[in-house]
Amino acid sequence: MAGRFAPSPTGDLHLGNLRTALAAAVIARSLGETFVIRMEDLDRVTSTLEHERHQLDDLASIGIRSDVPVVRQSERFDRYRAAIEALSSAGLVYECYCTRREIRAEIDAAASAPHVHLPDGAYPGTCRDLSEADRHQRRASGRQPALRLRTNGERIVLEDQVVGRFEGVVDDVVLARADGVPAYNLAVVVDDAAQQVTHVVRGDDLLSSTPRQIYLQELLGLPTPTYAHIPLVVGPTGDRLAKRDGAVTARELLQRGVSTVVIRDALARSIGCEPLGDEADDPVAQWASQWSIDQLPRDPWPVDRFGLPT
Ligand SMILES: [Zn+2]
Repeated sequence: MAGRFAPSPTGDLHLGNLRTALAAAVIARSLGETFVIRMEDLDRVTSTLEHERHQLDDLASIGIRSDVPVVRQSERFDRYRAAIEALSSAGLVYECYCTRREIRAEIDAAASAPHVHLPDGAYPGTCRDLSEADRHQRRASGRQPALRLRTNGERIVLEDQVVGRFEGVVDDVVLARADGVPAYNLAVVVDDAAQQVTHVVRGDDLLSSTPRQIYLQELLGLPTPTYAHIPLVVGPTGDRLAKRDGAVTARELLQRGVSTVVIRDALARSIGCEPLGDEADDPVAQWASQWSIDQLPRDPWPVDRFGLPT
């Protein structure tokens, strides 16, 4: 049994990421699960080792460490390609030549259709039934295809530990981008299974993609973990925490004189744990010993300003 935190190393973690990581670590420890940190660095343009090091340092500073060596998705493309190959052999993969702009235009044109919990940016199926001649023509114009999963409006119901019952419709999710890079939803499913992740704790901005991932698990014969999607952190205006809200990373707060212990304890309080008030050898273990997931607040956390102006 394992829980995990899987950031993209594309910048410093903000307070919302750190809070999600803390919740995931405390839940894993309280259940006796292994805790895994995985770097979702599929995008080699924006991901860097320096960001990765910063993120791991910031996590360690509030007591969060991976129980196993940190895995990088950029080193596992062969596994993702094997999974796509398996889906392709089952006739479940097709080539999509659409640009983002074309997909956007199609979605906008169909905006009047009823959408019951379709994932954000659900693909309208434009390329699902292209003929060989259609594909040839698009290739000849210099376009490279993305690979998509062939679906039929399957409905997935999940029982989330925080959100409760959630029902979503699956769309033709991207499996590999036009540049050949495996796509997020596929990689996550392959890795969660490979790392024996039984418990996924993450921000509720990812809830709408969860039915896609569960469907992929079913198609690939992989187990479905338990999900807990926790509410986001919001800034002073009530919107999702963003750079405009001033100091939003641990580093920025440290630079302005807020101590690591204060940051750590504020994050702990925000998930229903008692502040420890001082240095601690293993704060996650201390919190895990006196906490259960029922104590996790169900509402968004208005970020602690630590007395700083925005
Ligand atoms: Zn397409």
